[in-house]
Amino acid sequence: MDNSTDNSNWVTCYVGLGSNLANELGSPADHLQQALAVMRAHEQVREVSVSSFYASAPMGPQDQPDFVNAVAGFETTLTPYELLAFCQQLESMAKRARLRRWGERSLDVDILLYGETQIIDPTLTIPHAGLSERNFVLIPLREVASNLTIAGKSISDYAQSRDWTGLTLLSSD
Ligand code: AMP
Repeated sequence: MDNSTDNSNWVTCYVGLGSNLANELGSPADHLQQALAVMRAHEQVREVSVSSFYASAPMGPQDQPDFVNAVAGFETTLTPYELLAFCQQLESMAKRARLRRWGERSLDVDILLYGETQIIDPTLTIPHAGLSERNFVLIPLREVASNLTIAGKSISDYAQSRDWTGLTLLSSD
């Protein structure tokens, strides 16, 4: 059966992308754009919408460049673990290098939400553990999912209780 016409298998999910390390494949923003292009081309992914790109201050060591962050929302027929493998494939395609914990990296792709699914597992936690505390996730997430509710609270309520500390709008389409 053609999955693209069977809406029952498609789950709405959101991923966060971040990069603060250029390499031979491009700048941090290039890494995000390249990952988004692969995402859009995946046959089990449709209806991709992408937030603006933001610059955000690093969470860990401060002697590293700001990150470029964005959030993508889409529908997928990938299972959560297949989606995790796809996110890790996108990271590998950016020749992911991570120099230290919480440090610079060419690409990080995290699953933020997968429908209503909740998973607490050593390799996969959904909703993402840092979701409700990170400006660089909440503010772009609100852009692509203004009506979203997480654990009974609207994304606007989450995002409004945050200030924009450490976050700068880089581009919007
Ligand atoms: P990170 O340091 O962000 O690249 O995290 C790496 C590890 O986090 C991966 O090996 C995943 O197994 C694990 N992980 C747990 N929950 C998630 C999630 N929601 N999205 C992506 N990775 C996750």
